[in-house]
Order: sequence, then structure tokens, then C-alpha cells
Amino acid sequence: MSEHDTATHEAAVSTDVHDDPVGLLQDLIRFETVNPPGDEKACIDWIGELLDAYGLEYDTYAQDPDRPNLFSTVSGGDGPPLLLYGHVDVVPVTGQDWTHDPFEAVIEDGHVWGRGALDMKSGVAMFLATFLRLAAEDEQPPGDVHLLVVSDEEGGGDDGLGYLVEEHPELFTDIDHAIGEFGGYDLELAGVETYPIQVNEKQVCWLEATFRGNSGHASFPHEGTAMGKMSSFVETVDSQRLPVHITPAAEQMFEALADAVPPEQAEQFEALLDPDQTDGVLDAMETETKMFDALLHNTANPTIVDGGDKENVVPEEVTVFLDCRLVPGQKPEDVMAELRAVTGQDPEFEVVRFDSGPPSADLDTFEELGAILEAETGGVPIPLLMAGATDGRHLAQVDVQSYGFIPMQLDDLPFLELVHSGDERVPVDAVEWGTERVYEAVQSYAQ
Ligand SMILES: [Zn+2]
Repeated sequence: MSEHDTATHEAAVSTDVHDDPVGLLQDLIRFETVNPPGDEKACIDWIGELLDAYGLEYDTYAQDPDRPNLFSTVSGGDGPPLLLYGHVDVVPVTGQDWTHDPFEAVIEDGHVWGRGALDMKSGVAMFLATFLRLAAEDEQPPGDVHLLVVSDEEGGGDDGLGYLVEEHPELFTDIDHAIGEFGGYDLELAGVETYPIQVNEKQVCWLEATFRGNSGHASFPHEGTAMGKMSSFVETVDSQRLPVHITPAAEQMFEALADAVPPEQAEQFEALLDPDQTDGVLDAMETETKMFDALLHNTANPTIVDGGDKENVVPEEVTVFLDCRLVPGQKPEDVMAELRAVTGQDPEFEVVRFDSGPPSADLDTFEELGAILEAETGGVPIPLLMAGATDGRHLAQVDVQSYGFIPMQLDDLPFLELVHSGDERVPVDAVEWGTERVYEAVQSYAQ
């Protein structure tokens, strides 16, 4: 089931919303695009109306008619095309404490408050404002600029970017580079002001591990049961690391950090990249341990257990669901072998999902984007390997390198604590500042 609409429109209506990214952000937050179910259509339609007003054509693509994705282009010069992309769905607000209604987009204390203020309607507002400004200006950008606004990032992208790269790969044929989430904001790492720009991410690998063993009536003693095997497996996975992997992505990131910090700390980052020392250094670290740990190992977290359906029957079979995240370059068979080795057990593994990514990143545009932030702030740009998954992994399937670049100066606002949490908010100044930086990025791309 697929729907593809082409909208063509008459001459431009003069308008100036591109000068007001904060207003755009407020409007975006007021669409309740909580995923599930997402219901992004009204929000996407509204973006379409703005494009109409600027005389821009656009196409929508939808697997689910209530969850469209929008693609549009501002024509540029002979330079290579650049993609600006973002998602308009947001995570739920249930069970969270909010000072203001999360869908009212109140401005108070110099901040816009609401769900999506950081993740990532502020980014969409910056991209949209930049895109409309390019359309309104007499002068063309150096190359074509594409805007892609998608649904369903928070649900894995099956109705969003995952669907587009699968069913409409032609959209991406000429595109090498894209700007999206995650990064571009100030983050203190090891006491230094850094600006992480995501260039690579770990690969999602969901496994089911099935254990079989002695079964029978629960009134007798049993050894070697599926339940026992599963629990000892989980116990080991819970308490031990899998082997260290020093990938090119981790090297790029930690070398950049080592260059940015004082010599004593630099030694620590260099030692992290020596596999004989990695785990010892992580254990000795006081902060950022978990984040760095995840970037240097495959991980496996048991999340669902399924086994037994009768109180007095010892089950023959028990299955545990493992959310594994693999460092770039690793495959499902690799983590299965590691799990067998560390636990000494040999369950039957089944791969439920594997979102493979490229082993290393193309850093060409990282340098350009980093230079923009460094010139403005003096902070240190870092090519970030991300532990979590973003839509960037879908773009990798069509050979588009994504850079996480939602430029913001947040100062003391704790980004990682507010994303997906109550009282998510963003400084008004940060949205305006970031929009200028995105515009600069477009103008300097491949120049
Ligand atoms: Zn996001």
C-alpha cells in the first residue's frame, strides 16, 4: 500500500515566516505527533501549506496515509546537492511532570517549553526556516538543497525513512551528504566544551535466544532445565562485558577528544584505544563511563523473557529477547559468538532485526560543519559515534552520509536529561542562533 502525491502550485505568495524559526517551532510543538500512533499528517500538511506559500513544489510519500513524509527541493547552482532532514514525531508524555502543557509551546524564562523542543522539532524549525529563506532569496544556493520531513523516527522509521529508502531509493540517488540529528550542541566532555557531530552510530541487532532443557512435573527435582540455563546466561550477560572493539569510528572520536583536553587526560583517552587497557580505564573513569563503554563494546541487554505457561510444569523451552547494539563493522554472528564464549552456553539464536550500518564514516563535511561551530564558539567539534539509533542508519542504506548538526548553545541546560523527559525546553536564542549556522552550512557546503 503506497501513496505518492505530487503537488504543483501557482506563483509565490510573499511571506516572512522564514525569519521566525521560534514561531515555526511553537507551531510544530502544537501538533500532537506522539508516536505511537504518530498521526503526523496534520503537521506534514501544514508544512506543505508553508511551502505552497513560498511557491515551492513538494511530494509526499506514505506507506500509512496518516503518516506521510514530505520531500521538496530548492534549486541551486552546479554544486553537489545537500539534504536537510528531520522527524516530526515525538515520544509520549505520560507519567512525566511538566511545568507547562507539553503541547502549548509556552515561552517563559527565555525558553520554548514543550515535547519536541529538543528532539527534534527545533531542528525541523531550523531546517524549514533555512529552506524557506533560500526559496525567498534572489540568489541561488551553491547546489540543490532538499528538505525531507519524515514520520516515525521514534518508532524505528518503518513508516518513515526506513520506508523511503526501501520503496523510493531514487530520491537519494544524487545525494552524498545530509544534515540531521544528533549533535551540534555544546556538551562538556572531560571538562572541555565540545560540539559532538554524529557521523556514525551503533547497529541495532535484536536476537532471540532459545534454551531447551529437562522438563516434567514440577513436584520432582530437575536439573539442566531451560529456566536454569536461561537464568545463568542472563546472570553472566548482566555482569560481564563482551570483548573490546577499537573501531575506526571510536578512534576518530577519542583522538579528537585527546587533542582537546590537557595532557594527563589525553593519556587516558589514548589508553582507552589500547584494547589491553580499555576496560581498566573505563572502570577508573568517574563520568561518561557508560557512554564510552557502549562505544567500545558490543552490548546485549535481556529485555523480554518468554517461557512456561503452567504453574506445575517445568517448561522444555525458554526464550530471552536480547537488544544487542553492535559497533560499526560487526555482524550478528559476531555477537552470537561472543555471547557463546562469555557464557559457555549455546542457545539457539534467531536474528529478529539487524539494521546494518557502514564500518566507517565520510568525514569531509564534518570538517566544514565543525569549522562553523568552532569559529563561533571556540568549542571543539567531535566526530561522534552514537550509541543509540537514529534515522541516519536508514540513509546509510542508500549511501548517504548523515551529520548530526542541530546547532545550539545550551550552556547549563542538561540536554541528555531533558530529551524524552518532562519539561523538555530549548532556549529561544539557541533556535535563532542554530538557524543562522544551518544557513551558513548550506552556503559553505562543498565550496
Ligand atoms: Zn530525534
